[in-house]
Amino acid sequence: MKSISTTIRLIFATAVLGAFASFAYAGPGPQYWESITKKAQFDQLKAGEKVAYVCYICKNVSEVPITSHEHAMELCKDGATVVCPSCQKSSKVVRKEKRNDPPSYSEVIYVNEKGEECAFVAKLAGNLETIRAEAQFAQLKAGDKVAYVCSVCKTVSEIAVESHDHAMGFCKEGDIVTCPSCKKTTKVVRKEKRNDPPSYSQVIYVNEKGEECAFIAKVVAKM
Ligand SMILES: [Zn+2]
Ligand SMILES: [Zn+2]
Repeated sequence: MKSISTTIRLIFATAVLGAFASFAYAGPGPQYWESITKKAQFDQLKAGEKVAYVCYICKNVSEVPITSHEHAMELCKDGATVVCPSCQKSSKVVRKEKRNDPPSYSEVIYVNEKGEECAFVAKLAGNLETIRAEAQFAQLKAGDKVAYVCSVCKTVSEIAVESHDHAMGFCKEGDIVTCPSCKKTTKVVRKEKRNDPPSYSQVIYVNEKGEECAFIAKVVAKM
């Protein structure tokens, strides 16, 4: 005969298992870092919060701790200068009007001296280490997470590495990698870097015009 407490414990255990099960059935799904592109989003940032500055010039995702509300607003002030914490290159804040999307709002973009977009800001959801060499891809194991940083849709998407082969697919010359967020495809190209001894090839991701449009980083620590 079961005591009442055992029965309650059983019911509780079943409820907990049920919760886990529904989690499992929902699947892990892709995880996206929230991009910050509107003034209203910067307005909500508080001192102590951290944002990610994603720089296309040095291809690094750097942590920027918000020191004050003014600091957050400086990151979206038209004409303000933002310096990349990794390469120290500066970008200029531009408010780009988006009249096609009602209600009309301005998107905050970061441009270089030529007026080309060279960065974006997102909510920081972990620490990333950019992966550029085949040897770094070879070290990835099943269960590791990488981030696909797409400059087309300006999104940091996490991808769970399924196997060694899966990881090597990210650095195999000619392979196609799809952005989990916008579904745009990029082609893997090995760019020879002969100037840095020992000579090695850097893995880059290009669009149909041959322009770099993404990079991959390893998620080294979750927030
Ligand atoms: Zn940089
Ligand atoms: Zn994308």
